[in-house]
Amino acid sequence: MEFDHTAHPNPTSAARLEQILANPGFGTSFADHTAVIDWTAERGWANPRVEPYGPIALDPAASVLHYAQEIFEGMKAYRHDDGGIYTFRPLENARRLNRSAQRMALPELPEELFVASLEELVQTDRDWVPNGDGEALYLRPFMFASEAFLGVRAAREVSYRVIASPAGNYFGGELKPVRIWVTRDYIRAAPGGTGAAKTGGNYAGSLAAQQQATAQGCDQVLFLDPTRENAVEELGGMNVFLVTADNRLITPELTGTILEGITRASVIQLAKDRGMAVEERRVTLDEWGAGIADGSITEAFACGTAAVITPIGELVDGDRSIASAGTGEVTTSIREELLGIQTGTVEDRHGWMHQL
Ligand code: PMP
Repeated sequence: MEFDHTAHPNPTSAARLEQILANPGFGTSFADHTAVIDWTAERGWANPRVEPYGPIALDPAASVLHYAQEIFEGMKAYRHDDGGIYTFRPLENARRLNRSAQRMALPELPEELFVASLEELVQTDRDWVPNGDGEALYLRPFMFASEAFLGVRAAREVSYRVIASPAGNYFGGELKPVRIWVTRDYIRAAPGGTGAAKTGGNYAGSLAAQQQATAQGCDQVLFLDPTRENAVEELGGMNVFLVTADNRLITPELTGTILEGITRASVIQLAKDRGMAVEERRVTLDEWGAGIADGSITEAFACGTAAVITPIGELVDGDRSIASAGTGEVTTSIREELLGIQTGTVEDRHGWMHQL
């Protein structure tokens, strides 16, 4: 399928773009164009196009506004020293989008159409990819039920879009260990629920816990599964790893209640490449606390597209605080390797980078 292109009638001026790229922040400014593909139950995917970024005309009865039939993805495009723009493992995002689509009764998007939508948008808005250290163009593909219908059933009209937003260096250059709030009041997902899907409701449901975390001076929330002896699940937007004194990595297994992070899968691969044993299994908060206390757990980190890898400095569980090891050696070294592959300074031996 060929994409039609409509240029923005009033594109961002070079001076304004320079200003935005000088301090991109996160998620506040958006590239001039958006990629769009329509779907109807009758004719399937049709009318792929790149059009000017702007508000979407949506019927007030559009079912996404009532029943939240929506999914999304998140990835980054990096400008390498060779001048090319690359993204990380886009087929994995295409596959995860389609797993989310299955769960939320949305249509699957052919993988090649997903990748083409990223290529067409980034080629159109190349100037929006920042080139500072750790900076990237964040890509946000999403799909929602646009049909005007108040019955509760899978929509017969759906819209898929991609928007792009310049993203600054998450840490302002410095790797700062985060403080994590352990929520005992809320759970994120339950067996048979939507925890493994990247769907808006999971994030709306996490906000009250995030507000508590912020009020406690913490950066993010750790969700537990109280039905499995407080097994560690994940953070609001990142997966969790523990590093042991005898050089193993431990991370919660994929039970269907956590998101299958692409950074998580990549960290597992890089650790195995180094000869580390990786255990994907149930790990409880008690095991974490006891391991820190007796020295058998030496580091803890969280990982995801936004911050790549970030050390967990402290867990706050009510009145109890579990100090973690801060910025440990294994965390730092895996982070440098992964970030190096993404930004083009470390050899991409797994063929993870895709030129856009
Ligand atoms: N868990 C959740 C709940 C997330 O939203 C994300 C971010 N997509 C992750 C984990 C990390 O996934 P990834 O490494 O693919 O960004």
